[in-house]
Amino acid sequence: MGVHVDIDSNSGFCAGVIKAIKNAESFLDTDGHGEKLYSLGAIVHNESELARLEQKGLVTIDKDDLSEITDASGKTLLIRAHGEPPQTYRTAGALGFKVIDCTCPVVLKLQKDIRDAYARQKESGRDGQIIIFGKIGHAEVLGLVGQVGEDAVVIENMRMLEEATASGQIDLRRPVEVFSQTTKSPAEYASICSRLEEMMAHENELSVERFKGRGLFTAHNTICSQVANRHSKLSRFASEHDVIVFVSDKASSNGKVLCDLCKSVNIRTYHIAKAEEIKKEWFRNDDKVGVCGATSTPKWLLEKVAEEIENFC
Ligand code: SF4
Repeated sequence: MGVHVDIDSNSGFCAGVIKAIKNAESFLDTDGHGEKLYSLGAIVHNESELARLEQKGLVTIDKDDLSEITDASGKTLLIRAHGEPPQTYRTAGALGFKVIDCTCPVVLKLQKDIRDAYARQKESGRDGQIIIFGKIGHAEVLGLVGQVGEDAVVIENMRMLEEATASGQIDLRRPVEVFSQTTKSPAEYASICSRLEEMMAHENELSVERFKGRGLFTAHNTICSQVANRHSKLSRFASEHDVIVFVSDKASSNGKVLCDLCKSVNIRTYHIAKAEEIKKEWFRNDDKVGVCGATSTPKWLLEKVAEEIENFC
């Protein structure tokens, strides 16, 4: 059996992850003089890449580990691209950690925009609400709600939006400013925003057109452009191939969104975390196979998967 395999040229690490890994490697290879580097949370949601960095001395810790440390003088803590709430920096500083802050500039800007919106709402006295479209408990989202002392409503999907408005958690008569986690689906964010605006207009007994002029609803365009661009290109890539092998850890939020996108245009999409998971029965003679991945999938892993499929078939 023969197949033709293509690797999606737009898949692979995004700029934020590349920068975090580069900083970690500079420390581990030279600047740290053999010291270990502590990463708060996985620097990238990819076990194979993590294993490579751990070989060099990267140690991944979580918030519970951090709370058990009493003295970290002389140790170095890396804050990954997802960012952290302000409290984490205070804790790390109080423990004596030196911090390498690898928060992605796009996330830093989003954090600042949320702080600014919150400050504006407080100054205006209009009792506004901050709404974040994102995954509850995701590190980036925890960092975002931490910018406003947790005074924000997080919704993951349309169902949660309906529930939050029905229960009054989101008050349709109060002004809202909506932000999205950087890696969410642009299409889903657009639907959430338009549904919320429609519900607010209805509650205020106005048409959506007339409601727009009231300044009660603001949706910020905060999905990372690297992710947004990837959506349209990946959709085309998935439709141009007979089979899609999507490579990312199952823990990757961006991986789930992008893999679902591939499945929506190509039913023969398979999600794997490593080359060992490939199954021969997925392929037919002369299939055009596309290999792609998330912003947390290293290029070398995509190449390994492509090579494995070629060897298999
Ligand atoms: S997906 Fe975008 S915002 Fe998130 S880390 Fe990568 S470059 Fe930064």
